[in-house]
Amino acid sequence: MTPTPRLRFAPSPTGHLHIGGARTALFNWAYARRMGGKFLLRIEDTDRERSRPEYERSILEGLRWMGIDWDEGPDVGGPLGPYRQSERYERYKAAAEELLATGAAYLCFCSAERLDALRAERTQAHENPAYDGKCRTLDPADSLRRRAAGEPAVLRFRVPAGQTRLDDWIRGEVVFDNKEVEDWVMVRSSGDPIYNFVVVIDDIDMAITHVLRGEEHLTNTPKQVLLYQAFARTPPLFAHLPLMLGKDKKKLSKRTGDTSLQDYRDKGYPPEAVLNFLALQGWALDDKTTVFSLAQLVERFDPHHVSPSGSIFDPEKFLWMAGEYIRHDTLERVAERCAPFVVAAGLATHAELDARRDWYRAAVAAEKERIRLYSELPARIAYLFAKDAELVYQDDAMAAAKKHAERVATLTAYLEWLAPRLEPLEAAAVRDATKAWVKERALAMPALFQPLRCALTGAAGGVDLFEAMRLLGAERVRARLELALRRLAE
Ligand code: GLU
Repeated sequence: MTPTPRLRFAPSPTGHLHIGGARTALFNWAYARRMGGKFLLRIEDTDRERSRPEYERSILEGLRWMGIDWDEGPDVGGPLGPYRQSERYERYKAAAEELLATGAAYLCFCSAERLDALRAERTQAHENPAYDGKCRTLDPADSLRRRAAGEPAVLRFRVPAGQTRLDDWIRGEVVFDNKEVEDWVMVRSSGDPIYNFVVVIDDIDMAITHVLRGEEHLTNTPKQVLLYQAFARTPPLFAHLPLMLGKDKKKLSKRTGDTSLQDYRDKGYPPEAVLNFLALQGWALDDKTTVFSLAQLVERFDPHHVSPSGSIFDPEKFLWMAGEYIRHDTLERVAERCAPFVVAAGLATHAELDARRDWYRAAVAAEKERIRLYSELPARIAYLFAKDAELVYQDDAMAAAKKHAERVATLTAYLEWLAPRLEPLEAAAVRDATKAWVKERALAMPALFQPLRCALTGAAGGVDLFEAMRLLGAERVRARLELALRRLAE
């Protein structure tokens, strides 16, 4: 019987969730869900100096924000925990002693000075700077005595001769010559165990069946496979995901796009767009569909179909996708998700938005087709919140308005015509009637619309003017037009 698939995401809490880590989490999660398996979260905090609880919190929050949930983890517990490496040291100690007892690992007493000198010498001679195995042949009983007497020692893995093979789901068979894998350190002299060792113990203890992780871990894999062999265990299935590259084909960096998930959240990307876009980094639903749901991803995701070559992270496409999600989302949800940005921009408080809920929704509706990020809304609706007398006319709006010599006469006549039509304002009817009004006077459309737009919104383009009128209300439309007659006069 094949065991229930168990996959994990194992971030190190040494920074906020990286966008590449978010993709790794997503792929593991999607496959676990597709197979009806379990998805675990494990915190790999063996780097004591760089690990921080606030990063752990931020990683969990980032995953939740994306809509990724886990069945077992440090916060929800589970039968095979603890799920934080710093809480598993006793287990690692026991495992280390076990390997020492079987001879799969050995104590090494070489000083840092000796190792530095060795490395320098070998590098200079263009040789492999690996450890030379000096302590490999020490008498084990003698080594134990030296350790007990307080002599500092590291624990090294005894890499056997031969080759190590692995059948990567994405890359096919990968063969490593064990000569290239040095007798690596599993436990430092301080007693701190290192990643390549503990990751295997944890994956064994947590019954992990599949490991999907970044390509940068491929070189670690032979060390880990050898460790499974030393424990007489079958390794999980490995799938090394391609690197996410910037448009310059180099590793994704701040220069080519934001690298932290938090940045995208702060910028107002819809989480659904983030998931969709990340899913396309190395994988495709088919040869034509770019916008798809999480349910479709879960239904179809197969690590076999992930491409082995680097995927290009295209920020413009990401932005486009964000806009697609906003356009197709419900007004209610877009309004709700934009609200924190409106508040942060200082336009209104949450309570004020709540008190004018329908009006706020209508303001969002007027822009929903145009914004690509939630954060783009405040600047576009700021005119609605400005005091009439303080509305800023942008330079281009002013220039466009002033191009029309008859602007004041036109606006005066228009205001007179418009005033009785403002309450209640039927946007579509007034729009049609306004166009007819312009035609009757043999004016060009911009001769009215540019001064009118400048008067009402202060901007040269954007929102539908009649929607703007409806949102401003009769009194403010009148006030703004009257003010404009004076401000545009000179
Ligand atoms: N803690 C490792 C990392 O953050 C994960 C290693 C693994 O998935 O095996 O890169």
